[in-house]
Amino acid sequence: MTVRVRFAPSPTGYLHVGGARTALYNYLYAKKNGGAFILRVEDTDVERSTEEAMRMQIGDLKWLGLPWAEGPNPETLKDMGPHGPYRQSQRKQIYMEQANKLLDSGHAYYDFRTDDELEKLKAGDGEGVVHHIPRPDKIVSADEGRKRVVSGEKAAIRFKIKESKEYVFTDLVRGEVRLPSDMVSDFVLIRSNGMPVYNFCCVVDDALMKITHVFRAEEHLSNTVRQMMIYESLGMPVPKFGHMSFILGPDRQKLSKRHGATSCNDFNLRGYLPEAILNYIALLGWSSPNENQEIMSIEEMIQLFDYDRLNSAPAVFDEEKLNWVNATHLRALPTDELWKRVKAFLVRERIDVPDDKEWVEKALSLFRPRMTTLADAVTLFRPLSDSAYKVGDESKEVLGWAETPKVWDAWEAGLKAHGSDYLSEPDFNALQDKVKDAAGVKGKHLFMPIRVAVIGKPSGAELKELVPLLKKTSLLKRVQQARNARA
Ligand code: GLU
Repeated sequence: MTVRVRFAPSPTGYLHVGGARTALYNYLYAKKNGGAFILRVEDTDVERSTEEAMRMQIGDLKWLGLPWAEGPNPETLKDMGPHGPYRQSQRKQIYMEQANKLLDSGHAYYDFRTDDELEKLKAGDGEGVVHHIPRPDKIVSADEGRKRVVSGEKAAIRFKIKESKEYVFTDLVRGEVRLPSDMVSDFVLIRSNGMPVYNFCCVVDDALMKITHVFRAEEHLSNTVRQMMIYESLGMPVPKFGHMSFILGPDRQKLSKRHGATSCNDFNLRGYLPEAILNYIALLGWSSPNENQEIMSIEEMIQLFDYDRLNSAPAVFDEEKLNWVNATHLRALPTDELWKRVKAFLVRERIDVPDDKEWVEKALSLFRPRMTTLADAVTLFRPLSDSAYKVGDESKEVLGWAETPKVWDAWEAGLKAHGSDYLSEPDFNALQDKVKDAAGVKGKHLFMPIRVAVIGKPSGAELKELVPLLKKTSLLKRVQQARNARA
């Protein structure tokens, strides 16, 4: 048996961490077992699903690096694979065909009751909402029902629960699960407006797409009883299910936007690495068989993944731990790769810095250990950008000191006399000493004017680290700008 798994998002917004985790576990399981990972778009909820959201989710999966073997092509969105269409909104005919089979075999019936009648039944006799809608008194034959629908009457197609029994299956995460059929009453397969419902589409698609394993969120556990009934009535094999634990926020409530960033897109914009997000979300409900192993590449996770280490207890999303995982991956990136990603953030913020290999290596070896996310590069690199240099209000006092111009004159003269493009840290220390003697000042009356001439403010980053990263020509331009600010 070839393993075939699917990720089946409803395109109603960006991919959130819960969805990403579902996608990841399915992907890992497929890869580990030489199987296929399939993307199916569950867009039958016309009010909430949008094409735009589908593109967003596809973009997020691409960013994470979880490629699918079948589904909408990530670039063109055209179907790839033999079991398409992969968007449920384009499969209505397929669902109707299967619904007709169930009508003919007596496992489903047309329900001609109006919405009003059903609402009344739901409202019950005033003693609370009735969840089990009773079966209509009279059920017409499939043929008669079809005729009435063709002649314009409205009807839903409902599943007919034949017997009261317990559905038992071995959940890959939770072990034996028993779901009594009495949990549900005859349920709708196709609404009277012609739209099929999730439980029906899901079964038809999983069966026709030959899905063997379904890892999905815990909230679908109670749907499984309806789905097992449909499989049984269609005579189709039931896949193995694994229902994953909830992800909670630090307050132990279900993780939601209230808790801050929860979508992959948010994390991307905030400078998290996709490999770190994958690593971190993998740990929300799964652990490596190797003791204490928490930092893993996707290749390692593929090797190590199995469902026997999926945890049924809820997982708590811990941003501090995510930060640690991110920083660890970030520090391990090859310099070229890190620079490529850092540069994207700098360009976005219009921070212009040199791009030659030697400079980049020097700058990254200084800043890399201080970065948790790529976005941290913005603050770290900004003082090195000539276009970002400006003398801030906080420098006013320093500009007013009588010693300041003397310090700048000596600083400028020393820079001009320096023989190469850059000053090393010892060069800078030596120059600072020279300025001290030439201008006859020390302490803050020495350091602060130099700082203003280098970074535009009297406090902040360490000059002995920054100066060696600034070209002599930049330093000269800056001292001139500082003078202009004083004038
Ligand atoms: N479209 C469903 C969701 O986004 C998928 C349910 C399933 O995997 O069966 O929750």
